[in-house]
Amino acid sequence: MSFKLPELGYAYNALVPAVDAQTMEIHHTKHHAAYINNLNTAISGTELEMHSIEDILAEISKHAAVIRNNGGGHYNHSLFWKILTPGGAKVPSGKLASQINADFGSFENFKTAFAQAASTRFGSGWAWLVKQNEHLVITSTANQDNPLMDIAEVKGTPILALDVWEHAYYLNYQNKRPDYIKAFFEIVNWDIVATLFVKG
Ligand code: MN
Repeated sequence: MSFKLPELGYAYNALVPAVDAQTMEIHHTKHHAAYINNLNTAISGTELEMHSIEDILAEISKHAAVIRNNGGGHYNHSLFWKILTPGGAKVPSGKLASQINADFGSFENFKTAFAQAASTRFGSGWAWLVKQNEHLVITSTANQDNPLMDIAEVKGTPILALDVWEHAYYLNYQNKRPDYIKAFFEIVNWDIVATLFVKG
């Protein structure tokens, strides 16, 4: 069994103006596809071919760096595509909204803290909202690491992810990462995030 590139579920130009069509197409068909190809090559003929990506990440310290980088790359991008949508609800609702208020004080406070994590991640990496026990925690990771990995400083089930590698925004935003982060909040699929929160 090998890992396959998931469909986005929307067109490459669907997230304009927050994310431009060319960035989406290159990100999906070149970057994400490359992580999957490299992961499949690395696990070919090993017992890892029988494992889910989540199970591989949970014991990532046992595996080679190529699996950490590309397995993380596959999981992270698969989640990222899923939590984006054109014209989604601008605010979370239900149990997720209540928990955001309980853990961060308000949705505005949450957005400020998440944007801070995303903007201060030096170099390439990701910002995360994770479910940890019954609470929500914001964290960030370098490169393609994530909170499912046994080596992560902050562990939990990711329910929201933001790619802050330059390849995610440079064509449209160049060095202005904060503008990209601000635009991200316009395209979050809060219905999916709420579902991940309840399941996670
Ligand atoms: Mn990326």
